[in-house]
Amino acid sequence: MRRVYTAPDERVEAVVLDAVEGAIGACFGFPVRRLARALPPAVAWDERRNQYESSGFLRDLAARIPLDAVRVLGVTERDLFLPGLSFVFGQAILGGRVALISIARLQQAFYGFPPDLPLLLERVRTEAVHELGHTFGLVHCRDPLCMMSLSTDVTRVDAKRPQPCRTCAILLHESDDMVAVEPPSTRSGADE
Ligand SMILES: [Zn+2]
Ligand SMILES: [Zn+2]
Repeated sequence: MRRVYTAPDERVEAVVLDAVEGAIGACFGFPVRRLARALPPAVAWDERRNQYESSGFLRDLAARIPLDAVRVLGVTERDLFLPGLSFVFGQAILGGRVALISIARLQQAFYGFPPDLPLLLERVRTEAVHELGHTFGLVHCRDPLCMMSLSTDVTRVDAKRPQPCRTCAILLHESDDMVAVEPPSTRSGADE
């Protein structure tokens, strides 16, 4: 059976992984399994920036894709950057097999606020399905409620829901790797 795997670093709490895996199952319909926790790849560390370079993380994930994996999503507590960007919430290879999210800047504590676990879990759900959506060929969407809307800060993460808009749902279902999955059920609501 083809599965989506999560690949957590050694710091991510189980409650966060449970939320991520629940959102993946609900959105994409694949069973989800968790790889053993691993240290972040040392080659991705940038001492000058005190961050990890996201592409190095993805290369590390790509080197350890299980045989039955349709996709692998890395989940890290480390802060990530890409050249030219001060930070990223995550990264994915468009149409590829690996994606990555960082919870560093999804935590209220990062912004000097008290911890808020329900809010954190909602944010990680949304960013997990966003990055995996890219691997299924979805690009950024103009609907601010859609999971594929671009987030440049947490307020825009909070505006999204961990679900595709109607258009993205159709595109997702047409993705080559989704053919084994039942079509998404019709959801009620007039705001899509
Ligand atoms: Zn994106
Ligand atoms: Zn959309």
